[in-house]
Amino acid sequence: MSGYPDLYMMIDGEKIGTDGRATFPVVNPATEEVLGQLPLATPADLDRALEAAQRGFARWRKASAQERAAVLEGAAQLMLERREELARAATLEQGKTLAEARIEVMMNVGLFRFYAGEVHRLYGRALVRPAGLRSTVTHEPVGPVAAFAPWNFPLGNAGRKLGAPIAAGCSVILKAAEETPASALGVLQCLYDAGLPGDVAQAVFGIPAEVSSHLLRSPVIRKLSFTGSTTIGKHLIKLAADDLKRTTMELGGHGPVLIFDDADLDTALNAVVPHKYRNAGQVCVSPTRFIVQENIYERFLAGFAERAAALRVGNGLEDGVQMGPMANARRPEAMESLIADARRAGAKLHTGGERIGNRGFFFAPTVLSEIPLDAQVMNEEPFGPVALINPYRSEEDMIAEANRLPYGLAAYCWTSDAKRQRLIQSELETGMLAINTTTVGGSDSPFGGVKWSGHGHEDGPEGLAACLVTKTVHEG
Ligand code: NAD
Repeated sequence: MSGYPDLYMMIDGEKIGTDGRATFPVVNPATEEVLGQLPLATPADLDRALEAAQRGFARWRKASAQERAAVLEGAAQLMLERREELARAATLEQGKTLAEARIEVMMNVGLFRFYAGEVHRLYGRALVRPAGLRSTVTHEPVGPVAAFAPWNFPLGNAGRKLGAPIAAGCSVILKAAEETPASALGVLQCLYDAGLPGDVAQAVFGIPAEVSSHLLRSPVIRKLSFTGSTTIGKHLIKLAADDLKRTTMELGGHGPVLIFDDADLDTALNAVVPHKYRNAGQVCVSPTRFIVQENIYERFLAGFAERAAALRVGNGLEDGVQMGPMANARRPEAMESLIADARRAGAKLHTGGERIGNRGFFFAPTVLSEIPLDAQVMNEEPFGPVALINPYRSEEDMIAEANRLPYGLAAYCWTSDAKRQRLIQSELETGMLAINTTTVGGSDSPFGGVKWSGHGHEDGPEGLAACLVTKTVHEG
């Protein structure tokens, strides 16, 4: 396929092709065309990557702040220059619109630049001691990181898994999703071309469970960084626990959106509808459960369904398309099953509810209402273009519904009442809260959840701190 790059693994600075290895066909979700064959790691490949990561860490932990910053800044500049080719690869392999893929490139540019600055602020401190005595606190890189990035933000997730560890002085073995390898390889190449040694950051692919158990069994790896489902996260954290490795877990969500009757409804609808269907809803911070005050419920529902039905769905490479296909064949199947279950339970369907066409993994923007709380979709992350809209009477009921699930990643609230804004801020069990906006992240702001949405942060100074250990030294 023209414009789609060659696929390989990157181990110890060497491109490893398919020779003699099992392969995985990477598919364009808009056409179901095979884009390329991805080599899958053998146990010997993984051992080689571990050996290199150990060596890379020994070298990179001693790199100066200027050296680390120059690599991050240089890679940011190269991503800017390669924006179109990176975005195109992401759209081809993941399906999202080119406009969304370009935003991912810019997220990485911002994040790498932020960490290029932040690395100069890795301060320690000297404690007050009597003359002749000295006590200092310093922060050192945690060690080689095993990082697992999913397919929904193929560029952005790779950038997050690489940026902070490299700034901190760690080495990284990245296993990005096998479904979207070219994006991760493109980000990594920018780092190499900016001067990063090949043993400091590497990319492997494989059978996910085999790669993760191999890497996490190794004492070389000192940190697990995982983005993906809560189910897999719980499994991996147990493997990491055997060796007491540090963990950053960015897991699932089920974003509640509280819409109060004092909100500006049109402003709210114009913001939340595109945000719901961004990346075909395959976003961990996607707004999912719309918890609407009953006196504005009918208006909100009608306005939502009308806007959802008007969205243009198609190949993400085409101009004017607002929502691409879902990323893989599993997603439309999951949507069909969740929607059928909800309708059996009594939910009303207002628009969508089915696949579009018979080629590609397209699914129509869907709106369900009056969904019983025991329907599967009200309890499991749908990870797709499905909005769930229910009416509630009181503020208290709305807050209780928002906090009902074990997830706590992103929450949203629309109200013009300042007192209500403070109440929501204090009561919601969530890692990130957006009030009268859809923004929940930024390179300088910690991204992470509570409860089953995981722990630890990426982005911001917190993302860097998550890659550091503290050493206290007392001198007599
Ligand atoms: P999945 O849970 O099997 O895979 C999700 C990601 O985890 C993939 O990148 C996969 O390669 C990786 N993975 C799976 N098993 C692994 C293992 N044992 N070790 C290491 N990595 C492993 O399933 P899926 O069908 O790709 O996605 C299903 C669900 O995952 C979605 O419904 C959603 O809830 C969740 N998901 C979350 C995010 C996120 O950003 N938090 C991203 C993608 C998927």
